[in-house]
Amino acid sequence: MHKELSIGAGAALLIFLLVGGYNIGPLLLIALMCGVLFYMLRTRGMVKTFDKVTTNGNLQISFSDVGGQASAIQELQEALDFIKNQADIRRLGIRPLKGILLTGPPGTGKTLLARAAASYTDAVFLAASGSEFIEMYAGVGAQRVRKLFQSARESAVKQKKKNAMIFIDEIEVLGGKRGQNSSHMEYDQTLNQLLVEMDGIKIDDEVQVLLVAATNRADMLDPAILRPGRFDRQVRVDLPDKVGRLEILTLHTRNKPLAKDVNLESLAKDTFGFSGAHLESLANEAAILAMREGSKEIQQIHFIESVDKVIMGGKLDRRPSMEEMKRVAFHETGHAAISEQVRAGSVSTLTITPRGSALGYMRQTSEDDRYLHTQDYLENQISVLLAGAIAEEVFLGSRSTGASNDFEQALNIAELLIKGGMSRLGIVSISSLPQKDKHSAMQEILQKQESRVREFLEINREVFVEIVEELLAKEKLTGEEFRNFLSKSAHAA
Ligand code: ATP
Repeated sequence: MHKELSIGAGAALLIFLLVGGYNIGPLLLIALMCGVLFYMLRTRGMVKTFDKVTTNGNLQISFSDVGGQASAIQELQEALDFIKNQADIRRLGIRPLKGILLTGPPGTGKTLLARAAASYTDAVFLAASGSEFIEMYAGVGAQRVRKLFQSARESAVKQKKKNAMIFIDEIEVLGGKRGQNSSHMEYDQTLNQLLVEMDGIKIDDEVQVLLVAATNRADMLDPAILRPGRFDRQVRVDLPDKVGRLEILTLHTRNKPLAKDVNLESLAKDTFGFSGAHLESLANEAAILAMREGSKEIQQIHFIESVDKVIMGGKLDRRPSMEEMKRVAFHETGHAAISEQVRAGSVSTLTITPRGSALGYMRQTSEDDRYLHTQDYLENQISVLLAGAIAEEVFLGSRSTGASNDFEQALNIAELLIKGGMSRLGIVSISSLPQKDKHSAMQEILQKQESRVREFLEINREVFVEIVEELLAKEKLTGEEFRNFLSKSAHAA
């Protein structure tokens, strides 16, 4: 509307000057130069408007589309019910809720929850990411913040809605602690503008604006943003537990033809640590695999194969040399053998097919989601991690670089044991512990597990070599096949 009025006024002025006998050449030249300059700045991102901000359009998402987040949904709904009840808020003189902060790891459904919250409150929905506000040029970010709030109000009026919801993902980029950035003037001005906009929200505004922000680094946020009256509510959006994973898998397979053998419960059990985004990707990859194989329905095997893909990445075309494959087979069988020894039934897949950045891998099933770890559990995990390198050493006479990641994880667990007061040092503060003492305590923990693993592999040499041969022939063994092989060999012995 504004654009049309300006064009009309500009054209009228030119005609007026032309009729009055003025020379409009220089004016046209200046207008042209301004136009070119604006275009250049805009294409380089220095001038950016929020024309492209995502608005909810027809995409209606409700809380029932979000799985495994029952407590986050409940907290959010409680806060939103408060907004819906405008009459009582006014009557009791309560200040409006201005901001809700969703915190949690990536892909857990924060954006989804914000969209559902917008539908729940019948609000227009505008989404932007924190990084979109930050430019090298001071003042640009602040202007974008102003424009975003303005767009939210205008869209709500246009759509005849009383509420508008602005969702800002990665708020830590825009709302990080002030004075910490090299181009801090720009960061500070942008954040200040956001605070000004939030403080400007009043209960008698024609359109009630609610800011929902998401972050996985709440610790980086400026305290000013978290103080009462700004982001009043914080809602934690965590990785889903087993029941949550089952819910999300059910949601993402409801429009897909599943074969009778598909067992979502066992998949939920096998996908410990997966976020909602991982699970969505799993369902999608399984469907793609089924299509590629010409299968009308998605089978359990398609899901199992896709779990590996989601964790490790796609299969690589490049094939390692036979010698390398042999080393990988010993390494991975080492992990699997110890895993099975410390927890029977724990091997889910054992493969020497290269995927992503790994030449092979052994995946464990998770029995139950664990939130506490005992000393035994942690020591067992260390022994499983070290077993790959030790198997290489015992059977091939030397180690390789393939174990560096395992060692890093084993060292982290050793540190955890010290921190948790489970080492010979007793209860210590790890930050004030001299490096030398920490190092020797860690070495002791690792060496104890090394000897345990070496002893086990030496005793089971024959069975071990047979499994490696089987793995080299088949490239992949399921946990079931691996265990069958182990028990057959045990009976034969
Ligand atoms: P980020 O922090 O990386 O921005 P996010 O927490 O905002 O991630 P979303 O963008 O909401 O995550 O999720 C990405 C996709 O993953 C969704 O579109 C959805 O398909 C799926 N997903 C994530 N969490 C859930 C969930 N709890 N229930 C159902 N689907 C989910």
